Amino acid sequence: MTIEEEVSKTLAELGVTEAPAVEALFAEVRAAMDSERQELVSRGAASSTEREKTAKALRDRWLGRKNGLLAHIDEKWLKPLSREMKPIVGRKFNELRQTSAQLEMEALIRDVPVRAKVNSSDPGSKDASFASTGQALSTATGTVAVTTKGSVAVEVALGAADLTLPGYRRRLGSIHPITRVQREIEDIFLGLGYSIETGPEVETAYYNFDALNIPATHPARDDMDSLYVDAETVLRTHTSPVQIRALRKHGAPLPDASHSPMFHQIEGLAVDADITFADLKGTLDFFCRKFFGEKVRTSFHPTYFPFTEPSGEVSISCFVCDGAGSDAVGRSCRTCKASGWIEVMGCGMIHPDVLGHGGVDPERYSGWAFGLGIDRFAMVKYDIHDIQLFFQSDMRFLEQF
Ligand SMILES: [Zn+2]
Repeated sequence: MTIEEEVSKTLAELGVTEAPAVEALFAEVRAAMDSERQELVSRGAASSTEREKTAKALRDRWLGRKNGLLAHIDEKWLKPLSREMKPIVGRKFNELRQTSAQLEMEALIRDVPVRAKVNSSDPGSKDASFASTGQALSTATGTVAVTTKGSVAVEVALGAADLTLPGYRRRLGSIHPITRVQREIEDIFLGLGYSIETGPEVETAYYNFDALNIPATHPARDDMDSLYVDAETVLRTHTSPVQIRALRKHGAPLPDASHSPMFHQIEGLAVDADITFADLKGTLDFFCRKFFGEKVRTSFHPTYFPFTEPSGEVSISCFVCDGAGSDAVGRSCRTCKASGWIEVMGCGMIHPDVLGHGGVDPERYSGWAFGLGIDRFAMVKYDIHDIQLFFQSDMRFLEQF
């Protein structure tokens, strides 16, 4: 018989006619009240609005003026009683009424926690598993409940940190392909005894042009004239001015590799007595094999630069198709555009005038230099077809390195 059914009958109809039976009946009612309250306290509410709603429902069920269970008990159990039973039942009813103070709204809102819920075993059944829980251990900030199935539900009051939630994962960066290639190239030359030199990105026209054998009237200026800060100052158009600065700073002998973070150029420079074109070829051949792979062969073609004489362009045999221009089944090679060769850098013997501008006696010393684009090396090495990818900060691209 439910408690609603019990309170709709008189004690006589329930067969309760003596004190012990009255005691037992009220103990049962009291247990039901306690259990319903405890369940709400244990379950908690997802929000203060929900807490108010469930607390009011429980309060009204028991204490509602007209239809509450206590009102029914007063009406059905107490009022029809005989004179001798009235004091016995009246006393138990008063005890019950005192106990029922814990169902007043104020007490329920004080005791029912608002929770954020986490259930490590099955998020979908957290309410059910919690309601049928074996044990609940309350702490200052929350409740840890161990269910009978062995799963653990952790509930923490809002406002307190829930240590069981996954944290924010910070994405790890990686070395940018340009930086990676620059370091790789520097490592090769450092291993050969070169040092690293950097120069200013805003350069005088003298260092950028005149000292490199490119006087104001020289046609080569047309290609490079770009951004002047004023008549005498220019945003460096290449790394070659560092040659002059390095020569002036260190004099001869000088092995050096310089780079510009602006357009990612590396320039190599070696000055000493008896430096010949053979040193240039040997060094660059070694460097290309170190960087692109031991099977790579180099090829030198004459070209023109104002600051070197003679000047050359260096190509390497394609490391994908091994110089064949196509793969085993005849498909043309994308990396070398089917030519079998990839042009990678410019080089040459330093022009005697440039040595002179650098304060080095061209009668006594000679030297060679090369320049290469790090971006280009990275594109060739990693088979990247769009240089824009280096500067777009697209994580899908950068994460691959
Ligand atoms: Zn190829």
